[in-house]
Amino acid sequence: MKQNLLPEQLSYNSAQKQLEEAAAIIKLDPAAYELLRRPLRELHITIPVKMDNGSTKIFEGFRVQHNDARGPNKGGIRFHPEETIDTVRALASWMTWKTAVMDIPLGGGKGWVICNPKTMSTAELERLSRAYIRQLGSFIGPEKDIPAPDVYTTPQIMGWMADEYSVLQGKNAFGVITGKPLALGGSAGRGDATARGGIYCVREAAGTLGLNLSGARAAIQGYGNVGSYTHKLAVELLGMKVIAVSDSKGFIYNPDGFLYESLMAYKKKTGSVTGFPGSASISDKELLELDVTVIFPAALDSVITAANAPDIRAKIIAELANGPTTPEADTILYNKGVYIIPDLLCNAGGVTVSYFEMVQNSYGYYWEEEQVLQRLEKKMKTAFLAVQQTSQTYNVHNRLAAYIVAIKRVAEAMKLRGWY
Ligand code: NAD
Repeated sequence: MKQNLLPEQLSYNSAQKQLEEAAAIIKLDPAAYELLRRPLRELHITIPVKMDNGSTKIFEGFRVQHNDARGPNKGGIRFHPEETIDTVRALASWMTWKTAVMDIPLGGGKGWVICNPKTMSTAELERLSRAYIRQLGSFIGPEKDIPAPDVYTTPQIMGWMADEYSVLQGKNAFGVITGKPLALGGSAGRGDATARGGIYCVREAAGTLGLNLSGARAAIQGYGNVGSYTHKLAVELLGMKVIAVSDSKGFIYNPDGFLYESLMAYKKKTGSVTGFPGSASISDKELLELDVTVIFPAALDSVITAANAPDIRAKIIAELANGPTTPEADTILYNKGVYIIPDLLCNAGGVTVSYFEMVQNSYGYYWEEEQVLQRLEKKMKTAFLAVQQTSQTYNVHNRLAAYIVAIKRVAEAMKLRGWY
């Protein structure tokens, strides 16, 4: 990396810089800008958890509420070992922009527990999940702040959290959390919604660029929930060939493309994609430099930097991860003519179906999967168009355009509420 910054500082700096740039273009009121630069609220908690061996381990957690001018805060919870409050702040602000770009009546939040879930038993994870919710207490709620899954948190974890919150409330209050299992009020279509939304965006982008995606090659960085569904849907919906994938243990490549079912079965059995029969091992750098039509970053933030952006050969970068591209890399890629579908738009399918889940929870009436997918597709197309038109109006790249769309909407809500 060019700068001597930790990834979390890069994320925070990126978020601040992106806001500053967009605010300058639309001549945002200085008070509105100050309000949007920082979260409205944040909670820093200490969580004691009894471990299986009888010891008590102390974990650190956060919940940040960036801005709820347009509606309750919404955003995932990560269980990950290496983070700081600054990353959580950046991610919470990105949720404010994402819900605004999608024009759904929600704000932005994010939660984090510093832990390594891979080294914890199921029972320890359940105790940690429940303890986190007990500590958050009334800070969250269906009309205040609604968490969801994110890196290393699952529908099962959401189920435990929804149960713990319901116990605290003395009634079933499943609407406090989304991404729940179907049997606990989850929505049909939530599992692959983030990947699906990104795939819809790639289809729109290819239409704009006049690219034929059938048989075109793709690389996916990160093969978790989002990355693996992206593989499935890129093949199923776009007819693409996924020739490289990676996870935290390594990177694999096969010029003929990977079969989704076989790779998933292998990953389930071994815990990683590495060593998949018939694949060659490649480096992180090689994966990003492959001659592919689309790169899907679907792992962590700040992975595309000024150091590797000049070597990227893809025509489209579909940002499924949050904040995978630094502002310096953005400029380099824009000048090279790489079409970036920014995270605020590209990975917003998840929060959109989460919003559908909240609506269904409050009505107590559940939609068929087909209805969910139709509504998702319509929302993604509308948001894609809004970003594209704004990019043309202001003659700016897509990320800046997405920020402009979002900031204008949030600023309007704050103004109407009399916040400035
Ligand atoms: P996940 O935990 O299911 O998967 C993360 C994957 O990234 C894992 O396969 C892991 O091995 C891999 N990974 C970790 N470090 C890596 C590295 N250094 N190089 C390559 N791979 C690495 O998480 P997820 O839910 O799939 O989320 C992935 C990204 O998408 C995150 O940035 C998340 O914030 C974003 N996102 C997720 C959702 C959602 O609905 N799950 C919604 C919006 C955005």
